[in-house]
Amino acid sequence: MAEICSHLDQITVDMPGEVAGCEECLKIGAQWVHLRVCRSCGKVGCCDSSPNKHASAHAREEDHPIMSSLEPGEDWSYCFVDEVAFIVD
Ligand SMILES: [Zn+2]
Ligand SMILES: [Zn+2]
Ligand SMILES: [Zn+2]
Repeated sequence: MAEICSHLDQITVDMPGEVAGCEECLKIGAQWVHLRVCRSCGKVGCCDSSPNKHASAHAREEDHPIMSSLEPGEDWSYCFVDEVAFIVD
């Protein structure tokens, strides 16, 4: 794992339980497709299949590299810096 992503030490937030949805989409009344959570600060955003792509926008703007999928049954994470998907314990 450490070989493909050098940012695992930036995972400081546990996976949330119930979430209402993409925080930014809820504010503007937009729709989303899939949800991601930032593992540096816990912000919930929407995936790149969603019209507003809030998760990747957040990663870029805040310099928070790692997002994890919040979809049921999915346990992968993605590093926007290394552009690699992986599974963390
Ligand atoms: Zn990385
Ligand atoms: Zn969104
Ligand atoms: Zn963040």
